[in-house]
Amino acid sequence: MKKMTSAQVRQMFLDFFKSKGHAVEPSASLIPKDDPTLLWINSGVATLKKYFDGEIIPQNPRITSAQKSIRTNDIENVGKTARHQTFFEMLGNFSVGDYFKKEAIAYAWELLTSPEWFDFDPERLYMTVYPKDDAAYQNWLEVGVQPSHIFKVEDNFWDIGVGPSGPDSEIFYDRGQENNDVEENDPENYPGGENARYLEIWNIVFSQFNHLPDGRFVDQPHKNIDTGMGLERIVSVIQDAPTNFETDLFLPIIQATEKMSAHKQYATNPADDVAFKIIADHARAVAFAIGDGAIPSNEGRGYVLRRLIRRANLNGQRLGIQGAFLYKLVPVVGKIMQSYYPEVLAQQDFIQKVIRSEEQRFADTLEDGLDLLNTEIKAVKDSGSSVLSGEAAFKLFDTYGFPYELTVEYAQEEGLSVDQAGFDAAMEKQKERARQARGNEQSMASQDQLLMDIQTPSQFVGYTQLDVPKCRLENLIVQDQAVSSVTKGSAQLIFDQTPFYAEMGGQVADVGIIKDQQGDVVAQVEDVQHAPNGQNLHYVTVQKPLEKGATYELIVDANFRKKVRRNHTATHLLDQALRNVLGKHTQQAGSLVEPNYLRFDFTCLDKISAQQLAQIEQIVNEQIWQEIPVETIETDLESAKKMGAIALFDNKYGDQVRVVKISDFSMELCGGTHVKNTAEIGLFRIVSEASTGAGVRRITAVTSQEAFEYDQQQISYLQQVQQQVKAPQLQSVPAKVEQLNTELKTTQKQLQMFKNKLAQKTAQDLLNNVTPVGNFQVIQAIAPVTGMADLRQIADNWKNKNASDVLILGAKVQDKANLLVAVNQKAIDQGLQAGTIIKAIASEIGGGGGGRADLAQAGGKNPAGLQKALQKALTLINNWSAVK
Ligand code: ATP
Ligand code: MG
Repeated sequence: MKKMTSAQVRQMFLDFFKSKGHAVEPSASLIPKDDPTLLWINSGVATLKKYFDGEIIPQNPRITSAQKSIRTNDIENVGKTARHQTFFEMLGNFSVGDYFKKEAIAYAWELLTSPEWFDFDPERLYMTVYPKDDAAYQNWLEVGVQPSHIFKVEDNFWDIGVGPSGPDSEIFYDRGQENNDVEENDPENYPGGENARYLEIWNIVFSQFNHLPDGRFVDQPHKNIDTGMGLERIVSVIQDAPTNFETDLFLPIIQATEKMSAHKQYATNPADDVAFKIIADHARAVAFAIGDGAIPSNEGRGYVLRRLIRRANLNGQRLGIQGAFLYKLVPVVGKIMQSYYPEVLAQQDFIQKVIRSEEQRFADTLEDGLDLLNTEIKAVKDSGSSVLSGEAAFKLFDTYGFPYELTVEYAQEEGLSVDQAGFDAAMEKQKERARQARGNEQSMASQDQLLMDIQTPSQFVGYTQLDVPKCRLENLIVQDQAVSSVTKGSAQLIFDQTPFYAEMGGQVADVGIIKDQQGDVVAQVEDVQHAPNGQNLHYVTVQKPLEKGATYELIVDANFRKKVRRNHTATHLLDQALRNVLGKHTQQAGSLVEPNYLRFDFTCLDKISAQQLAQIEQIVNEQIWQEIPVETIETDLESAKKMGAIALFDNKYGDQVRVVKISDFSMELCGGTHVKNTAEIGLFRIVSEASTGAGVRRITAVTSQEAFEYDQQQISYLQQVQQQVKAPQLQSVPAKVEQLNTELKTTQKQLQMFKNKLAQKTAQDLLNNVTPVGNFQVIQAIAPVTGMADLRQIADNWKNKNASDVLILGAKVQDKANLLVAVNQKAIDQGLQAGTIIKAIASEIGGGGGGRADLAQAGGKNPAGLQKALQKALTLINNWSAVK
């Protein structure tokens, strides 16, 4: 076997199949396009469905690829088995109705065993085939495989329900009994059994049947080949590594992690190794997923990402790594993968930012969450139970962002399980609350069956017409019942055609009226939604009788529609302006088009500066001033994408799509209603911009009349200021405000100066007020000062002037009290001590103090006691004199 790097192995696989006439397809994004059934691309074939189901005929029926794949169902295996990751690369060769079993098997054998290629020892290779697949068995014999190396295994049949299916054949590498985790004679010890000795490296699927809805399997007209070889596994064999992780694909990541962990070393303690492996795996998975456009959030792909980042971070903590660290591994991952996947290094800064901010978010909530979790775990144990409540798990999820699975893992470590049903129920309740909070959104749930059965076609003619005189009422529903007439109250109506737009793509539904043939208004249209079969379902309040089969005039509120139209086109302009200013990676994350405003959510990690915001606003307005015609083009999805139209990943588009094109500036797939010319938008103003959660920001904006009114409002604020500051014109307001500010500062300074002077004066006056107490001349007062420093200042003056024998000062500073006592030499000679006096009186102000014989001070929290403290001091001095 040759020594090769992972990059060489990948390249050799592709080169081999290229030499056999295959076209090399680049890896597709991890995020499935036009495939709502998949969360992540999880194999090579997942990206080629369009060829396999006959939707598109490829130019070359032979295809080969290295495909990025994510399998979250393997997450628990990571680090525990030698062969699983969440992120891995699948090498594959594919035949779309071209070669079949015989050639596929011959190719696999040649690649694996030929000295020119991988050069494996045939003795080490084992095959499994489906027991009834005699052809595959024969084909393996023909290339020279010994019968003792072919196993018939029942579950070698690939079937995912209705659609293509067929037997498969797996190829195993024998790592030797010395690498096994079961005994030689264990019943699981065979290729395909649960063991570590026989490693599955490649799976060849012979897609030859069509699985029919009635359960029968019939021959497919075109038979296909689809194979998958895990790059990490084949590299582990070639680099003679005990697991996938001791290869050049992972070791640099593990080493970088070791450096951060100060005292933990890889391969010294099995528990630590699991953590190192999880971190290395998750670092790759999240770097690639974010590079392909996923962002952490609380559902779907975003949730997977959040879970992976947080799980990796926790494992870092297990290795003694503090704080955010996973993001630091991105350059390491990028460098390893650079030759075939330059995208990670190219977007390194962005990817790091996303991971880092998610790690920081996690740190913020982690401590609180762990406290709660530990309290809950203790409570469960104390109560003698072994099940953590679903509610606790949900609270951790909802409030602290703990992925459910993480709570389960933690609980498991403590020997507890989690009540999943309880968790699901709490989650369902939460969703229900969210649904209700959304207010008057129409619920279709209870009516589904009735509406699902309605097949009458209904055409939307509202792109060009707002008032359609003859619309036939085809279906009439009142309180979930199909009826033939209605006289008043709420009803839902379907017409053969309608100008009313049904809510879709963020654009709200039209409102308007329905008239009968006499021209009387019979109903108000309040909402329009799509029925299950696509018809526009009008939610109306009936004012006069309506009858099924009759024709009516449907009139959309033209002013409402006009405003919506402007805001929708402005939304497209904004979308593009954001990309121009913030970068191409900025993606739409939600949008709402109302008549009075528009709201646009988009992915963005950084704060947007005032300057950027102004620039975005400027760009949109420039497109308005340029009076650009807005074109709509009806075409098929593929052509639309070729044109470069922007489509949303999550949206389902039909075969026919509508492209909205604003010159070269913007082109998006969109079914909404738009202005004919950007000039109609008039004016565009951003009203607010803020963050709405991890990596998503929201802009609210207005156009035309509302933009004008917004400006008027802003100006009126300014005019109010103008009046207040008595500026002759608006434009002189800033200078006037500056002038007033300067004046204010000068005045404040003067005021402070006078206050100081006054305090000095009072202090001086105070030193003139000497009273004899016993044998001593005493000055005592509560001084109007701001703190102890002032009291000491007065004491200095007192000393210089030799103003009396004893000085006793108190001061109230906000809600605190200060005391100072000073005595001169004469008094000291007679045995009077400042420290003694302070100690005796400080309790009155609720504090303590001390000092020298000549000067002592105290602070306390009870200013109300100041007077009493002074009084006490005088009594003390008086008594002292008496004793003498
Ligand atoms: P296993 O039983 O080992 O999980 P599988 O039957 O799920 O494998 P397939 O769906 O046949 O695997 O995928 C084809 C190939 O992709 C496998 O032979 C293997 O080399 C690779 N592979 C599958 N899952 C993973 C994974 N989680 N990590 C790394 N490689 C994988
Ligand atoms: Mg598997």
